[in-house]
Amino acid sequence: MAELGKNLIGLEWSSQGKAVLKAVNPKGLAELEGEFYTSTETEVNRAMEKAHNAWLAYRKVDGKSKAAFLRAIADEIEALGDTLIERVMQESGLPQARITGERGRTCGQLRLFAQLVEEGSWTEAIIDTAVPDRQPAPKPDIRRMLTAIGPVVVFTASNFPLAFSTAGGDTASALAAGCPVVVKAHESHLGTNALIAGAIRKAAADAGMPDGVFSALNGEGYRTGQLLVEHPQTKAVAFTGSLRGGKALFDLAAKRPEPIPVFAEMGSVNPVVFLPGYLSQNTEKAAQALAGSVNLGVGQFCTNPGLVFVLDHIGLPDFLAALKTAFAGSAPGTMLNPGIHRNFEFRKMGLLKETAVVTEFEWAGDADETQLQARQAFASVTGQDFIQNPHLHEEIFGPFTLVVRCADPQELANAVTALSGQLTASIWGETGELNGHTGLIDVLQSKVGRLIFNGMPTGVEVCHAMQHGGPYPATTDSRFTSVGTTAVKRFARPVAYQDCPDEILPAELKKDNPLGIWRTLDGALSKNKG
Ligand code: NAP
Repeated sequence: MAELGKNLIGLEWSSQGKAVLKAVNPKGLAELEGEFYTSTETEVNRAMEKAHNAWLAYRKVDGKSKAAFLRAIADEIEALGDTLIERVMQESGLPQARITGERGRTCGQLRLFAQLVEEGSWTEAIIDTAVPDRQPAPKPDIRRMLTAIGPVVVFTASNFPLAFSTAGGDTASALAAGCPVVVKAHESHLGTNALIAGAIRKAAADAGMPDGVFSALNGEGYRTGQLLVEHPQTKAVAFTGSLRGGKALFDLAAKRPEPIPVFAEMGSVNPVVFLPGYLSQNTEKAAQALAGSVNLGVGQFCTNPGLVFVLDHIGLPDFLAALKTAFAGSAPGTMLNPGIHRNFEFRKMGLLKETAVVTEFEWAGDADETQLQARQAFASVTGQDFIQNPHLHEEIFGPFTLVVRCADPQELANAVTALSGQLTASIWGETGELNGHTGLIDVLQSKVGRLIFNGMPTGVEVCHAMQHGGPYPATTDSRFTSVGTTAVKRFARPVAYQDCPDEILPAELKKDNPLGIWRTLDGALSKNKG
C-alpha cells in the first residue's frame, strides 16, 4: 500500500506533500493500513497540465481504441479480486454482497460506455448537404457533431465507493467522451481510490493512451478541490455529494474568468405518493416495500424515499402500524463515516423535536455508537404543517422518512406542489386509480427527472434510457443525467463544420460514412452516404 499512498499524476506516482492522511474503518474507527500523501498546488498544476496535453491527443482517439481502454479498466478492476473487495468493506462498512454487486455495476458501466463509443452514433452527427443553386443565396454544406469538451475534474461520492467513485459513472462517461479525468479522491475511500487509480494507470499504459489521460489526487481539505475547479485547464466538473458542497463548487466555477459547467448531483427526498385505493388493498405490501427502500444501505442513497404522501383515510392507521412492524424488523446498520452519522442523528433528532411532528417509530434497541450505527425512524406530519414549514422538506441523509398526512386530494396536490426539484417521484395506485390522478402525476412530473409507477426509487438501472438528474437542488443542470449512457453528453460540445473539405472532416462526418453510424442526413435519420 506504500506506493499506493501517493498521488497519481498521469503515469507517475508523486508524493510531494508533507502531510499524510489515514483511512478509518467506520466499524470501530480504527485507522487502516496506508499513509496517503495530500497533494500540493504544484501537483494539482502538473495533473491539469498533463490532462490538457493528453486531451490534445485523446480527443482524437477513435471509438474502438477508447472502447478497448474502458474494457481494460474493467478487466484491471476485476483482477484486483478480493484485495479490492476487502479494502472497500473496511473503508465503507458496507457488506460484501453490496460491494461485490457494486463492483459488477462499475465494470458493467465501463463496458456499456465501451459499446457506446465503439458503435459511434452517440456523437449525434447532423448533416445538411449543400444546395449551391438555391435562390436567392446558395445553401452551404454544414456538418455538426459532438466533440470532447476538455479535461474533467471528478469529485467522488462517499456513498458509492466504486460505482460513483474513481472509476464510476462520471469517470467512465468523461473518458468515453474523449476527456481526460482528474479525480479528487473522497477522504472516506483513500485506499479504494489508490487501488482503482492503479488499475486505471495500468489499463492506460497497456492501451497506449496519452500520459495524463487519468490522474487521482488526495485532498488537503477543500483546497485541492478548489484549486482543481479554478485551474484554467479544467473544462468541466462532475460532483456527487451534499447540496452545500455542490453549490459551493458550482459558484466557484461560475466566478472563474472562464466559467465552466459543473454537473453536481446533490440532495433529493424522492417523494412517494400512495393513493388510498392502493393502500387499502395492499397495506402490508406497501409498508414492506417502503421500509425496505428507506433502510436499504442504511438509507444512504440519493434515491432514498424521504417523504411519503398519503390521504388521511380510514386505512391509514393500519398502514402506519404495518410500517412500524417493518421498521422494527430492520437492525441498525453502520453509516459510512463519522460526519454522515453525526449529521443523521443531529438532523433526525432536530426534526423529531418539532411540535408539528409526531414520532411514529424510532429504534429503541441497542445501537453501537462506536460502530456508527444509525437508529432508523419515521415520523408523520399533517399536510398543512408540511406546507407551512419548508425546512420539513429537506433531506435527512440516512434511514428516515416523513409521512405527510393530507386531509384531501387538494391538500395532497398543494403539498407536492410546494416541493423543490427532485431526482425521482413515485406514485402507487390500483389499475384505474392512477387514471383519476393525472393532474397530480403532471405536478410530480414537473418536479423530477424520473417518475416511477408502483415501484420504489432505490435501485437505479444503468441503461440507455435512464435519467438520474432533476431540477435544482437535485442537480445543477436538469438537462443531463449522471447515470446511463447519455451521461456522456455532459462532457461533449457541438461543433459545426461549414464547407469543410472531406479529407479534413472527422470520420463521423465524412461523405462515405466510413464508421457506418446513424446520422441525421438532410433531416432524416440514416446510415447512408451523404
Ligand atoms: P460532501 O461533503 O459534499 O463532499 C463531497 C466531496 O466534495 C468531498 O471530496 C469533499 O471534500 C468535496 N467538497 C465538499 N465541499 C467542498 C467545498 N466547499 N470545496 C471543495 N471541495 C468540497 O459530501 P459527502 O462527504 O459525500 O457526504 C456529506 C453529505 O452529503 C451527506 O451527509 C449527505 O447529506 C450528502 N450526500 C448526498 C449524496 C447524493 O447522492 N445526493 C451522496 C452522498 C452524500 P473533502 O473530502 O475534503 O471533504
